[in-house]
Amino acid sequence: MYRLPRGMRYSKLEERKEFYENELDVDALRRWLKHRRGQTAFALIPGRHTGIAALEYIGIRDDTVLIDDYKNLGEVRRYLVQYLPEGAYYDRNIYRDLSVCAKCGKKRRNCWGCPGFLGQELAFDIDPENVKCPYHGTGEERMKIGQGLGFCIYAFNKARRKTVALYRELEKQFSDLRLVYSGRGFHIHALDEKADKFTRMERKALAREIAEKYPIDEWVTAGESRLIRLPYSLHGMVSRICIPLEIEDMENFDPRTDERCIPGFLKAKEK
Ligand SMILES: [Zn+2]
Ligand SMILES: [Zn+2]
Repeated sequence: MYRLPRGMRYSKLEERKEFYENELDVDALRRWLKHRRGQTAFALIPGRHTGIAALEYIGIRDDTVLIDDYKNLGEVRRYLVQYLPEGAYYDRNIYRDLSVCAKCGKKRRNCWGCPGFLGQELAFDIDPENVKCPYHGTGEERMKIGQGLGFCIYAFNKARRKTVALYRELEKQFSDLRLVYSGRGFHIHALDEKADKFTRMERKALAREIAEKYPIDEWVTAGESRLIRLPYSLHGMVSRICIPLEIEDMENFDPRTDERCIPGFLKAKEK
């Protein structure tokens, strides 16, 4: 069990069910996805980090299940209700036509250059695991004692401040930035059209440059790791809702108490 800040804990299956049946804000998700300049694939992971998965999916608990055959977001939600995943994601790749790459055989892992591929949304991922904590040590040290994904509020707040600094830095290069609380850390999405078109070489160079100053996950920015947590979905390891934030929200943002990111099943229990 990973150690987490106060009030955060693994979601139970029945809580995931309640969330995806009643609380997932599909309209807000639709608005979020409006910036996408093509078609989007989704993905889910049944229970890789928590070990908790629906009985019928225990065998594929650690797998990434791709959702690329759906008619609308209502249907995507039905997949989430069916699988009750620990985590839900979208593929940052932008497809002209999802059905073209459904047949290309590369399972969307290496679709750069495919006829159905238009580009990839650029994103930056900052997590507390990449931050050194004076109490619990470096991420590597925490990994050694099986706490690789565990974190404390000190590491979280350090990641939060780093995210603001990175946002300010990126503002010099990009004009359309979005900020998301991911459940553990933060994502910055650069939605400028030019960023969609960056080559893999350009991404790699940018990732390396940024990683020198900020604790980002280089793989996400470089494009190797193309899945990003789905806004408005439930992060089943911490029982928090992944939500977009404004940069002005950041100074006082505390995921332990912020109502916007606390799912109903935790609010009900407090009363
Ligand atoms: Zn392809
Ligand atoms: Zn710590």
